[in-house]
Amino acid sequence: MFKSWANPLLAVGFGLALPLAAVAQNGIDYKEQEKLHEIAGAMQADRIENDIQTLVDFGTRHTLSETESDTRGIGAARRWIFAEFERISEACGGCLEVMYVSDTISGEERIPDPVEVKSVIAVQRGKTDPNRYVMMSGDIDSRVSDVMDYTSDAPGANDNASGVAGALEAARVLTQYEFDGSIVYAALAGEEQGLFGGKILAKKAKDEEWHLTAVLNNDMIGNIEGINGVINNTTARIFAEGTRMNESEREATMRRFYGGEVDSPSRNLARYIDTVADRYIANLDTMIVYRLDRFGRGGHHRPFNDLGYAGIRIMETNENYNRQHQDLRVENGIEYGDTIDGVDFDYAAKLTALNAVSMASMSWAPRPPAEVEIEGAVKPDTTLRWTPQAEDKENIAGYKIYWRLTSAPQWQFSRYVGNVNEYTLENVVIDNYIFGVASVSNDGFESPVVFPGPAGTFSIE
Ligand SMILES: [Zn+2]
Repeated sequence: MFKSWANPLLAVGFGLALPLAAVAQNGIDYKEQEKLHEIAGAMQADRIENDIQTLVDFGTRHTLSETESDTRGIGAARRWIFAEFERISEACGGCLEVMYVSDTISGEERIPDPVEVKSVIAVQRGKTDPNRYVMMSGDIDSRVSDVMDYTSDAPGANDNASGVAGALEAARVLTQYEFDGSIVYAALAGEEQGLFGGKILAKKAKDEEWHLTAVLNNDMIGNIEGINGVINNTTARIFAEGTRMNESEREATMRRFYGGEVDSPSRNLARYIDTVADRYIANLDTMIVYRLDRFGRGGHHRPFNDLGYAGIRIMETNENYNRQHQDLRVENGIEYGDTIDGVDFDYAAKLTALNAVSMASMSWAPRPPAEVEIEGAVKPDTTLRWTPQAEDKENIAGYKIYWRLTSAPQWQFSRYVGNVNEYTLENVVIDNYIFGVASVSNDGFESPVVFPGPAGTFSIE
């Protein structure tokens, strides 16, 4: 959120119809977390640069490129990523479970003949709630102008070695800590050929009944010079879709009467990350975009959204289309191609910090509340109810109710209500606000806010 709007006093200044007393009594309190500042400051741009250079040096990482060579092609690239996660794991006493997640794809428009689409993931297992996950992803594969050209040099420095380098750097930093929930660092394959790596991993998560509460897909996090000449390293975009893809017809009807069209779990995940940027990442404002992705385009969060998981895309604000999906060439004095000189490593480190702090905060927090319900029609008061989760027993201090005006983009008010499973906000009329509940750990870490009912749940069960 652009910071001026985050300030409730300024919101009054902008003429929102809030009585001043309400702002002074409510607003949003939070506990400053020193460890999150420490994580935000620990990202190293030079390590991100080295990793992007290493990935670029494989020549092409096209999904259909060769897999035998140790120096060129997608096979060499994924083996290097695997080995790098293993090295990170060695440094923390084996704290990562590193594995390939693959399937053979064929008969598709962009993968006509059988190809093994092989992603690399590393899991940092949580200590009190190991089956709860948050995930950060980037993409291994690259392309040039012709999406089927698997031999030409396709450096893919920004698209999307930057995302993979970010996942590696986040792993280096976060493996120095222990968390309650599990964290997945993923280098996904087959993105440009039809989002296959994401589909394969999303299916695995569902089949294995992971309680996956957040997918932070990073796709192009290093470009700061837009095609229109704008240079900007202080903003980023978070793309978050509206209603859930797996919503039933009955749920859609309920949504018409109870709301939720701007409060999918993906949107509340985006609001959470936006708040993290405001509190912990210096010189970064995030813009939440109420879309699945750029207009008509897609990314690797989508297969997770398709199954109902909360997933968002984090990326630069200003894109340079001369550098995306282009044959390396000079035409009319314009240089085309996704080469490493188009990547700003400090900016990539800043967006990596945003991911790492968001994941750390969620992984120290309890699970987002389950089965949140709300009532209060034709009453002056609003009551919220939710179900305690057994997995949180050791880690939960209590719950916090959030609310905002129906047209406000970010949560405006909150009240910590203790370790109860029902609370009535007196003299707060249900009709005039959107409500949600977050869980709070003993150390004050908060989960994302959960909007009541099926429209807002972070669970796909
Ligand atoms: Zn791309």
